[in-house]
Amino acid sequence: MGPLTRLRKVVVLGSTGSIGVSTLSLFEASKAPVEILALTAGRNVQRLIEQAIQWRPLVAVIDDESCLEALRAGLEGTGVRAAAGAAAVVEAAAMGADWVMSAIVGAAGLAPTLSAARTGAVIALANKESLVCAGPALLRIAREAGGSVIPVDSEHSAIFQVLQPACISRVSRLILTASGGPFRTWTREQMALATPEQAVAHPNWSMGAKISVDSASMMNKGLEMIEASYLFDTPEERIDVVIHPQSVIHSLVEYADGSTLAQLGPPDMRAPIACAFSWPDRLPWPAPRLDLAAYGQLTFEAPDLERFPSIAIAREAMRLGGGAPAAMNAANEMAVAAFLDRQIGFLDIAASVAGTLDRMNSLGTLEDASTDPLESAMMTDASARRIAAEVVAQKRQRN
Ligand code: NAD
Ligand code: MG
Repeated sequence: MGPLTRLRKVVVLGSTGSIGVSTLSLFEASKAPVEILALTAGRNVQRLIEQAIQWRPLVAVIDDESCLEALRAGLEGTGVRAAAGAAAVVEAAAMGADWVMSAIVGAAGLAPTLSAARTGAVIALANKESLVCAGPALLRIAREAGGSVIPVDSEHSAIFQVLQPACISRVSRLILTASGGPFRTWTREQMALATPEQAVAHPNWSMGAKISVDSASMMNKGLEMIEASYLFDTPEERIDVVIHPQSVIHSLVEYADGSTLAQLGPPDMRAPIACAFSWPDRLPWPAPRLDLAAYGQLTFEAPDLERFPSIAIAREAMRLGGGAPAAMNAANEMAVAAFLDRQIGFLDIAASVAGTLDRMNSLGTLEDASTDPLESAMMTDASARRIAAEVVAQKRQRN
């Protein structure tokens, strides 16, 4: 992308969310020379208007079309164009930016991320679900267009930073760290009664509701294992997870000679965003610094697969291949929404995902449904959502 001092054209997809806000906060703190072409949001029109007034993008896009009038009214006289709808988000992703932050939550991020990838932009990828749904296709499309995908997820950013391109064939293991989430020390009986408020109260990171629930169930780590396997072309059996409650070591790479490299930093998502923005350079900004003496000790433990079956479910989805990861993701999105809506219990989330995968596997509907990767992922996503809705309804009746 050229030197950091050159003006960069930027699009932020999902600008009103936790990662979107961190991205704009980093731009402000670092005084990075950016020209924002587009900011996009799902339905938080008020925050989008405030951001657009501050950053003056060419266009501000809201996915929810019922918010268009409010967006237009809020932007009157600013010169910022207002647009709405899923197609407008996809268009905004393809405005010819040098750098696109992909920070929409869920499979809804796939089409805009692919759209950005086709332009050859550098994609800063926070939206892990798009990789889980269509990883190989997304990476190939970005490469063929002359662009790249740089991970923003802190674990993958860590691996990306310590992976030595010259000896990739000598990597023996990728080790993802996990905080263990708010229920790390809870019994299954306690977890069965967990409320949405308890599930979203993450000990170290402040994040959107969906990823917070995923962290509590450890499905986040399951999604991240799949993300890592695609990003770093590593099979499931060479990806491990270790619980590290302090979230200081963001992940590790073990080499064939037994040497293990780690990346460390305070838990602040602006650090991996800065890395994705400046790579291979480093963005100077007043970042929080790591004070290891203040931590005193860093601790580690093995994940408990009885209480956190999501890790095993994700391994199974990787072994099944085809549409299984996309189906797992869709079922999880449905189950998390039902849990946040208080329709099902916390443990029903993983059970619903496993039930949906089992049913699709026995029906033989996990094969790639089309030769077009986006269409295939969207078809699998839709059929998994139909089946997950039935599975969730059964759980709801039982509660
Ligand atoms: P969030 O819920 O805070 O924000 C999501 C953003 O996407 C918002 O701007 C929202 O308006 C927009 N959005 C939602 N649905 C949409 C739709 N259908 N169409 C268009 N836009 C839509 O989520 P977040 O915590 O910022 O996470 C974003 C992504 O980054 C997720 O994939 C998450 O897994 C990943 N991630 C987040 C963190 C974190 O610290 N928050 C860390 C690592 C990875
Ligand atoms: Mg992560």
